[in-house]
Amino acid sequence: MTLTRLIYLSQAIPDLKYPDLKAIMEKSETNNGHVGITGLLCYGDGLFLQALEGDRRYVTETFLRIAQDGRHHSAEVLHAAAIEVRAFPTWSMKLVQLGEYAAERVRQIHLKYSAGRQFNPGVMTTQQCLNFMVELDALT
Ligand code: FAD
Repeated sequence: MTLTRLIYLSQAIPDLKYPDLKAIMEKSETNNGHVGITGLLCYGDGLFLQALEGDRRYVTETFLRIAQDGRHHSAEVLHAAAIEVRAFPTWSMKLVQLGEYAAERVRQIHLKYSAGRQFNPGVMTTQQCLNFMVELDALT
């Protein structure tokens, strides 16, 4: 058992609705809870940024399942590595929607780690993505 973190980004389908997010979270909480995966899912400007932490085998299986999901596409792995300690130990999966709760504060945190105002994790470094998510987790 090797503790591992995987971070990926993907594009949500254009007509993704709140019930879709709710269904994803319910499924994530159940499935991740069973295999000891924790993490954070960030959704904004039509993009997902997610961190999955747990046993490497389960993180891999979960990501492969997620990548096939019709509610998003174009998943790109930004980072996958063994870690000493979890950055998101508390939640089987926590959802943070940009532009929702504490919108301005979220935007400030985003600007701290990115060159532009538009949420675009594709141009952020892995460390910037991780720091951004850790601060979001602490905020909400
Ligand atoms: P079921 O829920 O029975 O699903 C069977 C199949 O149908 C799967 O292939 C599933 O992808 C697909 N499916 C189900 N509902 C829909 C729908 N409304 N539209 C299109 N396809 C659908 N799952 C986790 O376990 N952990 C996570 O952390 C996690 N994060 C996710 C993040 C994102 C951005 C997305 C889009 C999905 C995430 N999911 C996550 C859900 C994951 O993609 C699978 O849907 C889920 O794990 C499948 O669970 P299941 O094996 O019990 O199959």
